[in-house]
Amino acid sequence: MIRVEDLHRHFGGFRAVDGASLTIETGSITGLIGPNGAGKSTLFNVIAGDLAPTSGRVIMDGEDITGLPPHALFHKGLLRTFQLAHEFASMTVRENLMMVPGGQTGETIVNTFFRRGRIAREEAELARKADEVLDFLTIRHLTHEKAGNLSGGQKKLLELGRTMMVDAKVVFLDEVGAGVNRTLLGTIADAITRLNRERGYTFCVIEHDMDFIGKLCDPVIVMAEGKVLAQGSASDIMQNEQVIEAYLGT
Ligand code: ADP
Ligand code: MG
Repeated sequence: MIRVEDLHRHFGGFRAVDGASLTIETGSITGLIGPNGAGKSTLFNVIAGDLAPTSGRVIMDGEDITGLPPHALFHKGLLRTFQLAHEFASMTVRENLMMVPGGQTGETIVNTFFRRGRIAREEAELARKADEVLDFLTIRHLTHEKAGNLSGGQKKLLELGRTMMVDAKVVFLDEVGAGVNRTLLGTIADAITRLNRERGYTFCVIEHDMDFIGKLCDPVIVMAEGKVLAQGSASDIMQNEQVIEAYLGT
């Protein structure tokens, strides 16, 4: 689905991503691991259109998508999750979901005046979709909770839920388990698995928790110093001497 070819992203003289090549197969939940500073987030930022590459290419389903802006990728079904913006903290969980699919009618006063009926229908449809997402993620009870009051894990579920409001094909999750308690981490893993199996989502997941990666991801790609060091099943990866060395820093 996604092929990254000899990707570089340098900051001044520093090579944060230094010739990384990898593929993310359609239908996979691909894990991306590596020590801090390995270039994982920078790689995500380049793939998702938030950072221009210094050189190299990103191909999606045979099409060169290198350097496309996030909204163009969004329309192709390539999404990354974002931490919820501060301004959304005072909105409810359902309102946050309903905000997602841009380009609604009703942006101008004229539209608002003439298309009131249509807007009401669109809103009702969005609300219905949002409720479906909340059911799927087992957080329907949080529908009217303000997003700012959610726990770290609940926020991650909401971020995942936002990808479900549009027709995502491939979703990039950066440190999905950071600051999330065990129970909710299980709920998140479950949601990812079900989105993968039932809705055909392809995932690429950066995470430090090897237990989480081991249970969820196949294959696992290891990055170190801006390059891909190894790729394989989680159990192969954990026995790979180069990988062990990279983590122990010896
Ligand atoms: P990871 O996500 O694997 O921990 P990052 O991709 O965040 O690693 O960072 C890789 C390296 O690139 C780090 O050494 C980081 O300090 C550096 N880096 C990331 N973003 C920038 C930036 N905008 N300017 C300068 N250096 C950066
Ligand atoms: Mg990172």
